[in-house]
Amino acid sequence: MIRALGIFFSLLLTATLSSAQQSNEIHVLKVQGNIYMLVGAVGNIGVQISSDGVLMVDTGSAQMTDQVLATVNQLAKPITNKPLRFILNTHFHPDHTGGNQKARAAGTTITGGNVAGNIQDAAEGAAIFAHENVMKRMSAPTGSQAPTPSGGWPTDTYYGDSQELFFNGEAIQMFHPKSAHTDGDSIVFFRRSDVVLTGDIFMTTNYPIIDLQNGGSINGLIDALNLILDITIPADKQEGGTMVIPGNGRLCDEADVVEYRDMVTIIRDRIQDMIKKGMTLEQVKAAKPTRDYDPLYGSATGFWTTDMFVEAVYKSLSAKK
Ligand SMILES: [Zn+2]
Repeated sequence: MIRALGIFFSLLLTATLSSAQQSNEIHVLKVQGNIYMLVGAVGNIGVQISSDGVLMVDTGSAQMTDQVLATVNQLAKPITNKPLRFILNTHFHPDHTGGNQKARAAGTTITGGNVAGNIQDAAEGAAIFAHENVMKRMSAPTGSQAPTPSGGWPTDTYYGDSQELFFNGEAIQMFHPKSAHTDGDSIVFFRRSDVVLTGDIFMTTNYPIIDLQNGGSINGLIDALNLILDITIPADKQEGGTMVIPGNGRLCDEADVVEYRDMVTIIRDRIQDMIKKGMTLEQVKAAKPTRDYDPLYGSATGFWTTDMFVEAVYKSLSAKK
């Protein structure tokens, strides 16, 4: 079931690829500080490079890993001769973790005092950090078939609502919203570079995907968008400042997240009202609660249609708390 959903999400995001991504190339954008954004591996990837080595946030889809790692090598060469040491995962979906196994094998972990937590097999490759629910979704109880190969699983998980590490002279925080896109999301904040990676909580390409089967919820997603807004601070005239790398789509700043948060909140409120009036899912769909936003985010075809979004919001709001 989880594997089927994984394939579903891979296909979904493949269907929303931009023309740059369809060219099968990885495009690099220097964001600010030590952070680069890699576009073209389906899910966006963040890379931090400085004298201590390389850290990646997510690894993209498995089909693109060779190109991703070649690009990371190229970027790192003039800056450091140290390897890839850390991989942070924003959530478990295969368009964000598909390259974990190969990337981990390409790296080396450090076991200094600067790492919060315990790294079990330090010498075997880069360490993979994620919320414990990522591990739960990628692995399986003893005796049953795991949906992903163990080489790509997190080596170091956290529970509770945050985790921190320090690398390349920079404090890095992972914030865990309980139930947003999935139940294992992490928002990654590079404090010195002033860059946030949101994972699929925030995407510029479509309505938010609420993976109900894997613990997502509409109210938790809105809370998570508000958490991103707590972290981001705009520069003068409300532009720039903290830069935001979405799970999919273009580089953003706080103003973009505000607009998206407002849109999601308005649609949630409309559907909530309709539920209060006793409307069925079919009646809600027919009432088109998203109509004014459809030109920007809507889709009648593909793997995450407007109808599917409305249905997910409806079911999430109707679910027994
Ligand atoms: Zn996702």
